Amino acid sequence: MFPYIVDFQRIKEKIRDLGFTKVLVQLPEGMKIYAWEIKASLSPLEVFVSTKPCYGACDIEVYNGMATLQIGHSEIPNINYPQEIIFAEAFANVSFREVLGKYIEMGKPYRRLGLVTSVQHINALQEVKEFLEDHGYEAFIGNGDGRIKYAGQILGCNFSTARNIANNVDAYLFLGTGKFHAMGVEMVTGKKVFVLDPYSSQISEVSEKVEHFIRQRYGAIARVSEAKRFGIIVSKKIGQRRLRLAEHIKDVIENTGRESLFLLTEDINPEEMYYDVDAYVNTACPRVSYDDYMRFPKVIVTPIELEIALSMKKWERFMFDEIVEVD
Ligand code: SF4
Repeated sequence: MFPYIVDFQRIKEKIRDLGFTKVLVQLPEGMKIYAWEIKASLSPLEVFVSTKPCYGACDIEVYNGMATLQIGHSEIPNINYPQEIIFAEAFANVSFREVLGKYIEMGKPYRRLGLVTSVQHINALQEVKEFLEDHGYEAFIGNGDGRIKYAGQILGCNFSTARNIANNVDAYLFLGTGKFHAMGVEMVTGKKVFVLDPYSSQISEVSEKVEHFIRQRYGAIARVSEAKRFGIIVSKKIGQRRLRLAEHIKDVIENTGRESLFLLTEDINPEEMYYDVDAYVNTACPRVSYDDYMRFPKVIVTPIELEIALSMKKWERFMFDEIVEVD
């Protein structure tokens, strides 16, 4: 059974209003196993499920004569999509009460809490806030910048909702599963983050992982400072396109007597990155530099890390590569 709340009726009406009978459906990897249920829910539309990986609303596909429906992500407001794309957030049907009860029982000293989550739990935020306030805590939900649709929402490339309330809070609760988003919040704000998993009711911390991650990034920066030839990765995806940043990076590299080669790509496959370079600088999705680091045949860094490696910026504290807007 499809375990998310999606308003398929509204979607079908929208697609009909746009004048389409065919729909291209983009799904996150974890939802591909529900393709049959999704097809049935969209009946009588003719459904074409895209087999391409889809990690966010930064990556859309269009096909002549079809509406595009992306399930599981919210639109990125400051992107100029080439046609009307239908984004269907898929909300998880799960309660945080049990795991919140456990958090309270732990008796942690943090009384002012920032709440952050990814889009599938966004509709739980208000209830969590009220629950905490009923138990004597102060709870804050921050607004984001132009890349963020909902208050409290974070993306793997944007933590503005957390940063905007950093002065008001002692620590953050990340509502959901996985560690990457929580690590991002801890690195960007310098405050402790607890991960509250509503499925297992487990509470975990990410500080050790953050330390390990930062040590790894130090290592990458040290290696890049010796590099002479760089591949600059530029994405063709609409929400990852940072060409101006890539051109700035090219100047930075060449002004220090080094060489650069632009590499324009749709999907970044580390195993295919066999260019004659000493290092890569990634201007596309920052998660590629962080998550796929070990799979690249050469060291890969973010634009900020490159500037640190070439002594253009000081390393005072770790600077996460966030995307605020694209070209
Ligand atoms: S750029 Fe990366 S982290 Fe940001 S929305 Fe796209 S896939 Fe997610």
